[in-house]
Amino acid sequence: MIVVLSKSVSSHDKEMLRIYLRDRGFTVREQFFGEDAIIGASGKGIVDIRELGLLPGVERVAATSKPYELVSRETRAEDTIVTVGADPSLPGVRIGGSRITVIAGPCAVESREQIMETAALVRESGAVMLRGGAYKPRTSPYAFQGLGMQGLEFMKEAGEAQGMPIVTEVVSPEIALQMKDLTDMFQIGARNMQNFELLKKVGSLGKPVLLKRGPSATIEEWLLSAEYLLAAGTADVVLCERGIRTFETYTRNTLDISAIPVVKGLSHLPVIVDPSHAVGIRAKVSSAALAAIAAGADGLTVEVHPRPDEALSDGPQSLYPEQFERLMRDIEALAPVVGKELLRTPHPAAIRSFHGFSPLDGEETRAVGEKPVAFCGENGAFAEQALMRAFGEGVPRLQVKSFSGIFDAVLEGSAIAGVVPVENSQTGSIHENYDLFLRYGDIAIVGEIKLRIVHCLIADERASIDSITIVRSHPQGFAQCKEFLDKHPQWILEPATTTAGAVASIVREGAVKVAAIAGEAAALAQGLKVIKAGIETNPLNYTRFVIISRRVGDRAPVPPSLGSLSPNKASLVFSVPDEPGALFGCLKILSDRGINLSKLESRPIQGKPWEYLFYVDVGVPDTTGDFEKAIGELKAKTRDFHHLGAYRASL
Ligand code: PEP
Ligand code: MN
Repeated sequence: MIVVLSKSVSSHDKEMLRIYLRDRGFTVREQFFGEDAIIGASGKGIVDIRELGLLPGVERVAATSKPYELVSRETRAEDTIVTVGADPSLPGVRIGGSRITVIAGPCAVESREQIMETAALVRESGAVMLRGGAYKPRTSPYAFQGLGMQGLEFMKEAGEAQGMPIVTEVVSPEIALQMKDLTDMFQIGARNMQNFELLKKVGSLGKPVLLKRGPSATIEEWLLSAEYLLAAGTADVVLCERGIRTFETYTRNTLDISAIPVVKGLSHLPVIVDPSHAVGIRAKVSSAALAAIAAGADGLTVEVHPRPDEALSDGPQSLYPEQFERLMRDIEALAPVVGKELLRTPHPAAIRSFHGFSPLDGEETRAVGEKPVAFCGENGAFAEQALMRAFGEGVPRLQVKSFSGIFDAVLEGSAIAGVVPVENSQTGSIHENYDLFLRYGDIAIVGEIKLRIVHCLIADERASIDSITIVRSHPQGFAQCKEFLDKHPQWILEPATTTAGAVASIVREGAVKVAAIAGEAAALAQGLKVIKAGIETNPLNYTRFVIISRRVGDRAPVPPSLGSLSPNKASLVFSVPDEPGALFGCLKILSDRGINLSKLESRPIQGKPWEYLFYVDVGVPDTTGDFEKAIGELKAKTRDFHHLGAYRASL
């Protein structure tokens, strides 16, 4: 049982509580849990929970029905997000929430060159943390045991060179203290999951911990080991499923996919998966990794080696760099299906001066944490979801009432960036926002996020599907749920400005007969109930949001959370002279330079009947010189040319 203390608790109240609990047969301990001070009470004592809840200094009492308490969802309902390796200039890597965090590296650090080379390779493909063993618990005493402290120093150097926090295995309590200042995260290996002295020591050091599941541990035993770490003082524990021993011998272990949703239900801690040790066969690792993401894992730790055939340990399960790159692309494509985004972080040395778009410098990086990012809509709007995918859950947000309000806020500097919807996969471009780009010249697109749109029918707690007479949503919401709405022809449809705004109108009016079509997050944020989820006609329903920032001269700062991968997409808008072959001439410029066209759309120019603007999205080739030349030639051939920005495409 956990007694969460109120912020204003006095030491006298605390002492009275301790006495109260001890008198009733409990063993008590006091500690911090996240931001909360708690008293943990264990043992077979008996107490009236309601009476305990009324005592001075008690905020609330969480009585768990499980043998573990601190790790239980009953104690803490919201997901824990663990931050690894934050330093004053870089935001750190977040594990948990709506991001997928990929850790990669060799099984073991073999030499300085090998770890430096691997770190650069995995970073290039998008990994955000570096793994590698300096102390290797091997099955055979004659196998390579690792480079020890020297290996850890090489790893730290490699991590710093690539801007990646590192995680490495700690094998004994004696060595943990020596390792503390060199590693960003401790890994407790599968064989040591129940080494309780090690758990107590590592848990007391105040660093994040990656706790692997033992090869024959039950889920409950695994969670109890995590409880040891939390009870010892750390709040930052990430669980790692890495395969368990079964009767099957084809694979090294058996990846327990079902453990992912089970553990996420039982505990608030993030869960990642190690497909390498689970499967043990290189050719099968990527399939298992994708299955883990589909099952809800918060991330992966994957073994990659520049030359697996020469690896000193676990070569047969280590991916070739090309296989890892392919896996990262597949994860990026899969992530939105499960409502997540692949986490990217900035490379410290990446000077992104491409077409005038460069990363934020130190000063501006700090401003991202302080200045908000603007979006249009009410609490829980799809745009707010997209914003959190791009910038993380903790970023301050500025809610504005109209799309032009986002542009105003970014231009004035009251927001560091903004999130603007530009296109839906079913209903097409949102012209109003394209018009704003042309009106506000000093704004550039610096990033892109694709969000899967899952619509829900949302209403007051007292409502049921039969009591509803009116349904409100944005007209796109109605269009996207047409098949579902056709089954209820008696409902009156009332258009609203935004889907989350429709939810807000129900709350404001306290209406019971009115429902809204919007995302689940809007229902949660505004305290209404989901009557039916997934009512969109086509589940492949995505909205593309762009991230905008202010152009200053020929620069537009790119917020660091968008990562350091070089831009591979650009958006252009132009019109062409009214003469034969004018558009063809423009497209030929792109074709001659091998530039791929991913979107071409025309729309009437306001106030100029029968004249058209073209919206063009193109791929940016690696040879930026070609692209710049093409832009120069296009400018000469078109009228009203607007380069909206070059950015990294979201798959
Ligand atoms: C490792 O990650 O290098 C490792 C030894 O894994 P496990 O403890 O899961 O076997
Ligand atoms: Mn290994």
